[in-house]
Amino acid sequence: MIVDIHSHTPKYKDAVPPEQIHFNTVWRPDRPVQLPYSWNDYMRAMQPVDRAVVFDVASLSQSGRVDNPNDGTAEFVRAFPHKLIGFMSVHPYDPGCLDEIERSISDLGLRGIKLGPNYQNFDPLGEGAFRVYRRAQELGLPILFHTGTSPMREAPLDYAHPRHFDVIAGAFPELRMVLAHMSHPWQSSAVAVIRKHPHVYADISGLFYRQWSFYNCMRLAEEWGVLPKLLFASDYPVSTAQENLDALRKPNQAIEGSHLPRISEAAMEEIIYRDSLSLLGLA
Ligand SMILES: [Zn+2]
Repeated sequence: MIVDIHSHTPKYKDAVPPEQIHFNTVWRPDRPVQLPYSWNDYMRAMQPVDRAVVFDVASLSQSGRVDNPNDGTAEFVRAFPHKLIGFMSVHPYDPGCLDEIERSISDLGLRGIKLGPNYQNFDPLGEGAFRVYRRAQELGLPILFHTGTSPMREAPLDYAHPRHFDVIAGAFPELRMVLAHMSHPWQSSAVAVIRKHPHVYADISGLFYRQWSFYNCMRLAEEWGVLPKLLFASDYPVSTAQENLDALRKPNQAIEGSHLPRISEAAMEEIIYRDSLSLLGLA
């Protein structure tokens, strides 16, 4: 079974009106990403995988207005229950965020949490965030964090650095966490964190289209013995599951003809078929 543990909820249930279509050119160096996308676009892109975790990100405006995206995710998941697993998102500075966690489980059937401390502009080591981690640990909800850089100027870089998750895992040793994108380009710091903590993992989305750092981080993961902590993911719509499968099946493309050490092709196949749902308590 192939599980994609990182994808984003479509904004459109039906076809996207042509006048809404635009292209993001900063996320990837190799091709633009078409936005927005529909339920059908998403399901077509997910054909190569058996199960997919899907979520959106909650935001909090300057005026204190919370935008919880969880109803939209739940509606999408209800339409494709055999394929999709929905995660909620909350904002730790929202006074009602613990109630939203309860509602997202009991009313909406969502099974984990997505947080992006840099995009949501909250301190990942602050009191509000710790309240969310504590409840997630009590309820057995895994948390997938955006980690690593972002091209958005207003998103504070430091909040997405993997070193903070060493502290969080120390305080909440039973909490299942995923560091998205292996915290690119701080993959070596992510390796240090996932090596230490039994329940902290990293996803491999967003890595393959920078060939040299992809090669390096897979070698680092192999040398430090953390390949079993890497989970398959696409970050759709930024990339598709098929693109990631193709890249994992050609891991030595960047070094062909050189004497550099090769990445184990068998280990890449293990990432593709990893039982991420069991590891995160979602089986
Ligand atoms: Zn993402």
